[in-house]
Amino acid sequence: MRVIRADVMGLCFGVRDALEVIDGIDEPRAVTIHGELVHNEVVQRRLAGRGFVLKGEDRRGASDGHETPVVLITAHGVSDRERARLEAGGRRLIDTTCPLVERVHRTARALESEGYRVVVIGRRGHVEVEGIVGDLSEPIVVESEDEVAAYPDRRLGIVCQTTMTEDRAGRIRAAIVARNPEAEVRFVDTICLPTKEHQRALDRLIERVDAMVVVGGHNSNNTRELAAKCRGRGKPALHVQSADELDPAWFRGIGVVGLTAGTSTLPETIEEVHRALVWIGGDGERLEVGLQRAGA
Ligand code: SF4
Repeated sequence: MRVIRADVMGLCFGVRDALEVIDGIDEPRAVTIHGELVHNEVVQRRLAGRGFVLKGEDRRGASDGHETPVVLITAHGVSDRERARLEAGGRRLIDTTCPLVERVHRTARALESEGYRVVVIGRRGHVEVEGIVGDLSEPIVVESEDEVAAYPDRRLGIVCQTTMTEDRAGRIRAAIVARNPEAEVRFVDTICLPTKEHQRALDRLIERVDAMVVVGGHNSNNTRELAAKCRGRGKPALHVQSADELDPAWFRGIGVVGLTAGTSTLPETIEEVHRALVWIGGDGERLEVGLQRAGA
């Protein structure tokens, strides 16, 4: 079995910068990380091991309202309302919000102030989306074109979660225009460039392989979107968080497998999965030879 890697995959600059800030913190026990720093269990385990106080993916938990003196805002960002709550409680904030997430916040607020009702194309309940809608008055969150309705507003302003696919955003935008023919619909593409580059690299690779392995947290939106894109193009996709989730049986009959990874996947995790795939491929070849000999 041959393994071909996507020419763009793995950590984006936003996550890399956040990890660098974290590495430079001397007293982890004094710092609450406000939500999952990245949707990646390997990283989460390391942070817990260093002594950071971790909030769960939904940013709620036993420490709610009792955070340590220092709170680290993750790359996904928070609403101004949440920031104010933390500061009013006397917390010092370390802010690792990605500038491309900040751009979505600014865009959504600007649209609202210009009289548009804001529609966010994104996953309901995702921390980034919660942060974006947290400062808006009556936002609408749409995950799929089936959910789109006829809205009572004259002006609709659309922004996207940074890790949305261009395909899905395009379909939802078209459905909003179709269901609201009287409304003025303004669309601002706020999908981040690293996410687009990962998806475009997958597009270049997908026709050359029989199946794809996508590496990243099971709750990582951009990783899930990469796997969904493969399946949408008729290619089987195996979404794994780490090499030990690879099942050799899944690869029977596959001649060429592609490898890609979400924006929160560490380089070493990708290398481990690559090595495991090469091993599985080699083992498969030996198994094949053995079977042929047995049949001869
Ligand atoms: S996925 Fe995009 S928006 Fe999110 S941290 Fe990375 S660069 Fe920033």
